[in-house]
Amino acid sequence: MGLLDSSMDQTQVRRLLARLGIAPEQSGVCHEEWADAGGDEVEIISPADGQMLAAVRLGVEEDYDDAVYFAQRVWPKWRDLPAPKRGELIREIGNELRTAKDDLGMLVSLEAGKILAEGRGEVQEMIDIADFAVGLSRQLYGLTMHSERPGHRMYEQWHPLGLVGCITAFNFPVAVWSWNALIAAVCGDCVVWKPSEKTPLTSVAVQLIVDRVLERHGFRGVFTLVNGRGRVVGERMLQDRRLPLISATGSCGMGRRAAEIVGARLGKTLLELGGNNGIVVMEDADPRLAVRAILFGAVGTAGQRCTTLRRVFLHRAIAAEFTEYLLKAWAQIRVGHPLDPKTLCGPLIDTHAVRKMEAGLAEARTQGGEVLFGGERVERDYAGAPLLGGCYVRPALVRAHHSMPVVREELFAPVLYLMEFEDLDDAIRQHNDVPQGLSSAIFTSDLRVSERFLSYSGSDCGIANVNIGTSGAEIGGAFGGEKETGGGRESGSDSWKAYMRRQTVTINWSRELPLAQGIAFDL
Ligand code: NAD
Repeated sequence: MGLLDSSMDQTQVRRLLARLGIAPEQSGVCHEEWADAGGDEVEIISPADGQMLAAVRLGVEEDYDDAVYFAQRVWPKWRDLPAPKRGELIREIGNELRTAKDDLGMLVSLEAGKILAEGRGEVQEMIDIADFAVGLSRQLYGLTMHSERPGHRMYEQWHPLGLVGCITAFNFPVAVWSWNALIAAVCGDCVVWKPSEKTPLTSVAVQLIVDRVLERHGFRGVFTLVNGRGRVVGERMLQDRRLPLISATGSCGMGRRAAEIVGARLGKTLLELGGNNGIVVMEDADPRLAVRAILFGAVGTAGQRCTTLRRVFLHRAIAAEFTEYLLKAWAQIRVGHPLDPKTLCGPLIDTHAVRKMEAGLAEARTQGGEVLFGGERVERDYAGAPLLGGCYVRPALVRAHHSMPVVREELFAPVLYLMEFEDLDDAIRQHNDVPQGLSSAIFTSDLRVSERFLSYSGSDCGIANVNIGTSGAEIGGAFGGEKETGGGRESGSDSWKAYMRRQTVTINWSRELPLAQGIAFDL
């Protein structure tokens, strides 16, 4: 299948947008209503074929302020609604997402360039997190403690924080919002969303879907949307004391800025930043599993996931053989249009990203790396049909050394560095020797080796896997990373606690007033 079968013409695009409720010239700001936003109009070009999908008018500071005022007005009513009732609304949002899954998934593919299976998968992740949030709405548990004083009871309870600012990246244009927003909402917060400038259309589609549910129940404003530039609307959010929590997903540079500005006003941040993820392949690894995991990890979403596999450490004894396996696998990767079901690797987000990949590879060569495969631009798909828009590249394999400075950086493209190690200690040392700490994995059949990798002296990442790859996390676990990845945790487990404030309560039901630590303080 080639371009003619998989691409969408303008009429089909218009129909898709119309089904999702998006106008060809669309406002990117929604609070009480879709606003006449005050910023510039940007044309959204699909990386899949270079065609314009729609034009979106961006918001500026005033639009953002309107969204915050509206959310502030709605918040007390939302906060007063019992959590399980809030969960009922999220259940309906999950159902609306089920209905819209195919269309929204297709828009994710067209706007962000990820293959359709991943576009749909992203919407499925939203549905899964909605289900999780519904259950959570009855489980916002606090602990009880035994007081050291007689006739006293101690417990802790969790209250809503208020307004949460959610800044998201282009590569998960809808799922990351849902990890934050649907959990924060059952916690009793309102969420103001600033999506990436590169993917405003999907955010508009999501806002239209969730608004239908909120409208039915008189709760518009629980979720508001302000598309705008990072340095304009994003900066304003960081500085805004009305938002006690900023959840920011994006590059380490953006996260550093968020930590500084929000930290200066002693606000809270939840940071989900860049990764530089590695897999260690031991000599007893099952090559069938390892090669498949490495392929998906490095090439899925065209190497543009935070959890994308960027570094593979091969045990010296199997390095040559494994490199051959990988070369064989890489030669079979079908680069093509993201709507073509046979495509494994779609386009990068834009031509700027292509140039960055080329510059990164040039730098790797200068630093002693050897490009074993790929790295070039691709103008025809695997079946020979033309690929338009200039965003397609051949995923690259590079023989490298962990001391090369480029290996320490997150190059947001399908470039996989292959390195060798002597023994497990050497592998762990090399693996941990980068500033980022998101996701990691080891392939081995030896329990002692895998347990060592998972121990405190093993992987230093927020995620550590055995015999599965670095990407494709399930929503049930807490997701996030250490070091320059920012330390935040989102999605499952007890990540909800970030969206609430903890209150410790002591109740004296005795007729005395004993002090803690036995202190006597009587007149
Ligand atoms: P980016 O940092 O360029 O932009 C992310 C968001 O930050 C955008 O909405 C942008 O407008 C906003 N922003 C930029 N400057 C800002 C500022 N000064 N103030 C406030 N907001 C600002 O990132 P990107 O290119 O969209 O996404 C790719 C990056 O995101 C990669 O580094 C990737 O690893 C990371 N990411 C991390 C996770 C995670 O969970 N750890 C998930 C997805 C993406």
